[in-house]
Amino acid sequence: MAEETKSLNFIEHIIEDDLENGFDKQDLRFRFPPEPNGYLHIGHASSICLNFGLGLDYDAPVNLRFDDTNPAKEEKEYVEAIKRDVEWLGYKWDKECYASDYFQQLYDWAVELIKKGKAYVDSQTSEEMAEQKGTPSQTGIESPYRNRSVEENLDLFQRMKNGEFESGTHVLRAKIDMASSNMLMRDPIMYRILHKAHHRTNTDWCIYPMYDWTHGESDYIEQVSHSFCTLEFAMHRELYEWFLDNVYDENKVKPKQREFARRNLSHTVVSKRKLLRLVEDGVVNGWDDPRMPTISGLKRRGYTPESIKKFAETIGIAKRENLIDVSLLEFCVREDLNKKAPRVMGVLNPLKVVITNYPEDTEEYLDAENNPEEENMTYRKVPFSRELYIEQEDFREEANRKFFRLKLGKEVRLKNAYIIKAEKAIKDDEGNITEVHCTYDPLSKSGSGTPESQRKVKGTLHWVSIPHAKEVEVREYDRLFTDPEPDRHEGKDFMEFINPDSLRVTKAFVEPSLADAKAGEHFQFQRIGYFIVDPDSTDEKLVFNKTVELRDSWAKIDAKK
Ligand code: ATP
Ligand code: MG
Repeated sequence: MAEETKSLNFIEHIIEDDLENGFDKQDLRFRFPPEPNGYLHIGHASSICLNFGLGLDYDAPVNLRFDDTNPAKEEKEYVEAIKRDVEWLGYKWDKECYASDYFQQLYDWAVELIKKGKAYVDSQTSEEMAEQKGTPSQTGIESPYRNRSVEENLDLFQRMKNGEFESGTHVLRAKIDMASSNMLMRDPIMYRILHKAHHRTNTDWCIYPMYDWTHGESDYIEQVSHSFCTLEFAMHRELYEWFLDNVYDENKVKPKQREFARRNLSHTVVSKRKLLRLVEDGVVNGWDDPRMPTISGLKRRGYTPESIKKFAETIGIAKRENLIDVSLLEFCVREDLNKKAPRVMGVLNPLKVVITNYPEDTEEYLDAENNPEEENMTYRKVPFSRELYIEQEDFREEANRKFFRLKLGKEVRLKNAYIIKAEKAIKDDEGNITEVHCTYDPLSKSGSGTPESQRKVKGTLHWVSIPHAKEVEVREYDRLFTDPEPDRHEGKDFMEFINPDSLRVTKAFVEPSLADAKAGEHFQFQRIGYFIVDPDSTDEKLVFNKTVELRDSWAKIDAKK
């Protein structure tokens, strides 16, 4: 590794050890191998960051390999979405590969195995085979077809390929050991008949190779040196090696499978199968719904590639599974957007303020800084007038001394503008406050340099000028599930824990500088949170997604000045 300052994780140690033992650095090659049966999620992000990160660290190529051996569940839409998501995260693959491109090679190797007496066609039902499988403590029973002659096996296998048999009538099995303590070694299935068109090979094939047979051989064809997968494949390693040992040429790289722990995020599910249910049952509005833990959902919600990579880096690679709290992901995006997102003012729950001593039919444009984190501060103009909106919760008729916002008889500063004092609350017949009448101190304008402008008042509020404000739609999100681990309750379906109030759509008023905001642009609505312009926006109506709450307070921002 180039710089030795960072401590290595156990995966990097494996590579370092191999290099020390003479493995040629030039031969390092990695891959990210998604099955195109759904959109990528935050768990995949860990695997992407691991594999592509190793590629960058060791200056080694990384393939994007679609593990597309199951025509029943895979679709082209998913392939496109996966490519988009990996690119969006900022990674470049060396080769775009498909296991389906290797179907012929895999078939040829299977024929070799048959010829060597290491594979046979079994013609039992799947129930019969399951019965013979045994248990971890009880050896399996050999199939009555196990000792078919090589000729008969070759003939049947060819006819399976030619489409002479119905789906499910025969399978090709590796002839390994029905007494193995590893159940996966008990004559695993290599091929099944499936009369189904494939998104790439169409109807060229009606026999499809199983994952275990395909994965290692694909790694070998691509000369992947290190094949990292999640822990559930640990038991598969023996089979992975058995298959490789039967095809590999000593002059070539023999891929090495190693396992790391799956990443789980709280208050959601990270399984494509379960996410598909949320989509199909209409619980969310598609794979990229901002509530989804998919990469495309997080993107639409306002997460940045940097924040997702930072999250993956922070949680690191582990040997044991554990649950990561979603608040860590939120922390990462807040940190990133704090640096990047321009500050603007928007009011979500408007309360009208009338500044009674401010001239009617007057407006002025005040300077507002775009981002206090900028090295060279830039400013924009925000219009000010006699009638403004502030947040309802920022005004109370009476409140204790800890309420640093607006109350009757007391002063606050309006951000980038003047100090105002609340004089009177106007109410409707039911006693609800409909407007607040205030007076302002004309000499207190922010940045004007007058002694009044330096005057300290406890609270600072955001606001928008009513005649200038733009009405927009705001979508606020809560956790999709009420339980931290919705899919870990025995006897209960994860769908039982859906949060019925995970989406709240409201209207809000924002400063006019946002009129030209484009889909995908991030903003900090001061004192509220981070927001992103949603692609549902039209020329008539902007739609904002709330990415995350703002934890900063004015107090903290002011303290830094
Ligand atoms: P899912 O259950 O969501 O379908 P999967 O493992 O079947 O997940 P694949 O498309 O096969 O999904 O995964 C591609 C790669 O991403 C694999 O190497 C897999 O081990 C890894 N991966 C999948 N989920 C996670 C996760 N939660 N954490 C870390 N890596 C993961
Ligand atoms: Mg899978």
